[in-house]
Amino acid sequence: MGKSGCSFILLELLLLQCLISLGQGYDFFYFVQQWPGSYCDTKRSCCYPTAGKPAANFTIHGLWPNYNNATYPSNCNKNSPYDGTKVNDNQSTTLIKMDRTIVVVSDLFSRLEVSWATLACPTNNGTKFWSHEWEKHGTCSESVLDQHSYFEATLNIKDKVNLLHILEAAGIRPDDNFYKVEDIKEAIKAGTGYDAAVECNSDPSRNGQLFQVYLCVDASAKDLIECPVLPKRKCKSSIQFPIF
Ligand code: AMP
Repeated sequence: MGKSGCSFILLELLLLQCLISLGQGYDFFYFVQQWPGSYCDTKRSCCYPTAGKPAANFTIHGLWPNYNNATYPSNCNKNSPYDGTKVNDNQSTTLIKMDRTIVVVSDLFSRLEVSWATLACPTNNGTKFWSHEWEKHGTCSESVLDQHSYFEATLNIKDKVNLLHILEAAGIRPDDNFYKVEDIKEAIKAGTGYDAAVECNSDPSRNGQLFQVYLCVDASAKDLIECPVLPKRKCKSSIQFPIF
């Protein structure tokens, strides 16, 4: 093959690589969980969702496409609004017979209510929070995950990473006590194998509290990975883990 043939193939490969990365449009995800006790223990306070007070467990804030250079895309497709019928994909609806009762278990909504609970006021069923997360973040990974897959993949990661369990195994409990941020990070590293970023908020008395935990997930939203870049979040050295 001549020199010009080689250059042509190289150019084609380069173009292909560009098209692949353009199609995907992000490098990895931040998987962000929050502690409801901290979300609620602020001046702004919170409202429990229509389904009732969430369990005392970490809940999902979001799965956010991000670039390796610490920037992120947002609101990537105005033509893809949140659509509950797509999220819940009724084809997967299951019927379970218990005694003589037929219980309809909807596909994702029941899981979203438990693991991706809204705490915004006024009380609502979560649609507003989930549409915000889909439209701002989910649309930016739509070439890889459609609405149903985006929510399902996020819920599956949540089920794999039991943050409360991991922290409790290290003696770090939601008991209003104060814990060193470094100990919290170390416990998460020991439990997941990966470094995490911790974000704090302030209660009305200006105590720093454990608010959100960032872990990284590969671009197909299947596995945790080491963060290409950790978000910079400031916390006091000792923070409260409030009761919820
Ligand atoms: P984001 O734009 O994805 O960074 O999310 C920020 C938005 O999510 C803000 O409007 C927050 O008020 C909202 N938010 C964060 N956590 C919750 C929650 N648990 N329930 C309802 N809204 C929330």
